[in-house]
Amino acid sequence: MPWVVAWVLASLLGAVWLGNSELTRLKDTFSADVRIAHRLLSQRVVQQEAVLATLALLGGTEDTRRPEQRLPALYPQILSVQRRDRDAAWADSPLQAAEAESRRLGRAVLASVDLQRGRYQLLQAAQPNSFAMLIDIRSMVPWSEWPMAPDTSPVQLTLSHAGQSMRLQGGDVTPLNTLGWRFQLDKALAADSQPFVLTAERQLGWGQLPWVWMAGYALMMAGVMLAARSLINQRQERHRARELLRLGQVARLNTLGELAAGMAHELNQPLTAVLANTQAASRLLAEDAPDLPPLRAALNQAVGQAQRAAEVVQRLRRAVERPQLGSQLQALELQAVVDKALYLMEPELKRHQIGVSVTSTDSSLRVLAEPVALEQILHNLLMNAVQALEEVPAVNRQVKVDVRRDADQGRLSVSDNGPGIPVDVLPRVFEPFFTTRSGGLGLGLSLCETLAANMGGALTARNGASGGAEFCLSLPLSLGAPGTV
Ligand code: ADP
Repeated sequence: MPWVVAWVLASLLGAVWLGNSELTRLKDTFSADVRIAHRLLSQRVVQQEAVLATLALLGGTEDTRRPEQRLPALYPQILSVQRRDRDAAWADSPLQAAEAESRRLGRAVLASVDLQRGRYQLLQAAQPNSFAMLIDIRSMVPWSEWPMAPDTSPVQLTLSHAGQSMRLQGGDVTPLNTLGWRFQLDKALAADSQPFVLTAERQLGWGQLPWVWMAGYALMMAGVMLAARSLINQRQERHRARELLRLGQVARLNTLGELAAGMAHELNQPLTAVLANTQAASRLLAEDAPDLPPLRAALNQAVGQAQRAAEVVQRLRRAVERPQLGSQLQALELQAVVDKALYLMEPELKRHQIGVSVTSTDSSLRVLAEPVALEQILHNLLMNAVQALEEVPAVNRQVKVDVRRDADQGRLSVSDNGPGIPVDVLPRVFEPFFTTRSGGLGLGLSLCETLAANMGGALTARNGASGGAEFCLSLPLSLGAPGTV
């Protein structure tokens, strides 16, 4: 589950980043295109202003050839040029007013604007003649150098002046479309005489986001997450295997200690036999005519028993070749030890389909114990439960671990719903070499009991009220800080 959450988050972040980059890229393109369009239009209006100024300068003379009449042929956007001859007056009043304004400002001015038809008049007052040009805006736009394809570009371009407006390029802008993004740029053309404002707009919908890239990124993240998860799982597995190996080694060493005790017990019997046989032989030899066959038999028996004893001693020697386990008592959180043991046993428990429940009245309960010994006991108890549960159908297998305080003791119990311990077996389960399992050594519980006693605690066994075995380990409580006694 955390992996899925991490993947969703990473994918979302990536998608936001990709979407944002795409929006930035589109906006940059939009701004660059609009700036070029603005520059081209500005060049045109400045050019028109210059043409008119030149005309006013040169046309001042009485020239019957009227050079201005040739302008429409040179500049397609100039539809016609009107001249006010010396002493004459303009026919219509807007031209008259514009002439006065142009004279006052000393530059060309707009005489009339009809953006619906895409036309305007630019007038330059001069002496003796003034000139007015009628300009067609559509022909003014240098389409051949235009940065966008006018018919298909999604950018809408509008030219406006004093409440009138004219669409230069349709674009793909729906006024009601509020979902998505909108870029807008307003720029006045760079000629005071023709103060038109160029407005550019571009609308982007969700469909224009780079979905393919986003999906690709999410897929890539899924791959990365899967790889990371398998790497972490592998590391966890390795760690678990190392810990189990360590526990196994400790178990072996401890078991050898138990073995030694058991072997000392085993030695007793052959030595007694050797003694009895040699005493019998000695008695036979003391007779006047010793009877050789029973004497030989007694000595052979003694040799056989001595050999058995030698074997036991050999096993004993191997057993005592073990390093001493440190038996430093520490304050340990019982719950933490339980968690660790269950973590190590997790694959084993899963393999046997055993359900585990942990109950605890006090999760920070601390006891005085030797960490390895405590781990060892818990591990053995859990392993015994696993073995006992082999006799139970897989669907029912349950192990319960309970941690609680009991007066001045910390109590840890491990119970299972296996067959339980038969009443005649119960008193013997802690005896070294006592086992009811074929292939069992019968040393696990006796070792656990010894370890518990060495730590000032106790291990007991009983059958649960509703069946199954229950082992209960009690250890002295620690009242100091963790890690201290
Ligand atoms: P081993 O596991 O080699 O038999 P142990 O000392 O661990 O040695 O166990 C001794 C005996 O105690 C087992 O053979 C079994 O009869 C009994 N025993 C231990 N744990 C359980 C349990 N959880 N349920 C039933 N019997 C158990």
